[in-house]
Amino acid sequence: MARSSFHVLVIGADAGGLCLAHGLVKAGIDVTVYEQDPAGIVFPQGFRVGLSAGGSRALYECLPPESFDLFTASCAAPLRLGSRWTESLHKLGSTAFPEPPDPVGGEKAVSPGTLRQVLLADAGEFVRFGQRLTHHERDRDGSVTAYFADGTSATGDVLVPFRVRPEHPSHTGTVGGRVPLTAEVRQLLPAEMSKGVSMIFAPGGYFFLSHAMEFDAERRRALRPGVGEQDVDHLAWTVTVPDGERLRDLRGEELLTTIRSLTPAWSPKLHKLFGLTDPATCFTGTSAQETGVDTALRDARILRARLVAARDGGFTLQELETRECAQRR
Ligand SMILES: Cc1cc2nc3c(=O)[nH]c(=O)nc-3n(C[C@H](O)[C@H](O)[C@H](O)COP(=O)(O)OP(=O)(O)OC[C@H]3O[C@@H](n4cnc5c(N)ncnc54)[C@H](O)[C@@H]3O)c2cc1C
Repeated sequence: MARSSFHVLVIGADAGGLCLAHGLVKAGIDVTVYEQDPAGIVFPQGFRVGLSAGGSRALYECLPPESFDLFTASCAAPLRLGSRWTESLHKLGSTAFPEPPDPVGGEKAVSPGTLRQVLLADAGEFVRFGQRLTHHERDRDGSVTAYFADGTSATGDVLVPFRVRPEHPSHTGTVGGRVPLTAEVRQLLPAEMSKGVSMIFAPGGYFFLSHAMEFDAERRRALRPGVGEQDVDHLAWTVTVPDGERLRDLRGEELLTTIRSLTPAWSPKLHKLFGLTDPATCFTGTSAQETGVDTALRDARILRARLVAARDGGFTLQELETRECAQRR
């Protein structure tokens, strides 16, 4: 028998928590998201959110239809061309990509800050900012109480921690940054590089990867003015170097200088590209970070299905897990 009310407490209003919360609201489940940031202006790390068809489907299933439309309108144009180059920008080959299957399937890319704006656009009802979870307790009746730094507390049936999947602190020596696709940059690079995805496998284990990010500002603005206004057409590039540990503590301009000094034989055009990169957009870490949000969204979709099953079956999540384990035996 279903419980008369089923309330989920989600900690953290970033991609995973917000996607999950939207999905629960859509399924008629009462949810409140508690975010430690006081104003809801935390800017997510990263420079490009690459989404698989699974990440896109998670948003499609969880978001209200108008928010999903806003999301697709905020994405960069689908990449239509992949090209391979030498480090001196001699073209090795290129492949045309097929049309994306439909608005839901297919890979997509969006700026991290814009995705967050989309996820927050219709979340005012269920997000509480400035509430940092300090600890939680399970009550005798199976419910859970969350305690916050401001002295308040909240009780629900399930508490979802701020990050469903812990991330590995590994560092694979990837440096990345963004260059606005100005007329100067478009003239500097071969035409294919400012249109699609480009790869360079350079001697010594160096790897360059770039994605063109071109936006349809009019379509996005017509749906929701103010969302994604910071997005300009740009090239998001990464260079992965061997022995990347040496880059771990470098930031901004230091990273750009180091990449230039590590690649003396590369085309001067690529060095110019690094020079035109806004140091504020530079990051260093692992190339897998570009898929972090995708993983959080796919996890949110799975967790939502389990919470709906728990609500419909009248179980706590723990009870549901126990039943599923028993069935698998
Ligand atoms: C340097 C770097 C660069 C990255 N670049 C990219 C990229 O380009 N593309 C990409 O897809 N991914 C990138 N990632 C990974 C990406 O940031 C994460 O995978 C993604 O944000 C995970 O989303 P999440 O919602 O699960 O958790 P998080 O983004 O970690 O969100 C957790 C939320 O919980 C809040 N919170 C934490 N503790 C509490 C508390 N006690 N009480 C209340 N609220 C709390 C936080 O303020 C935050 O809003 C990058 C990561 C790093 C470190």
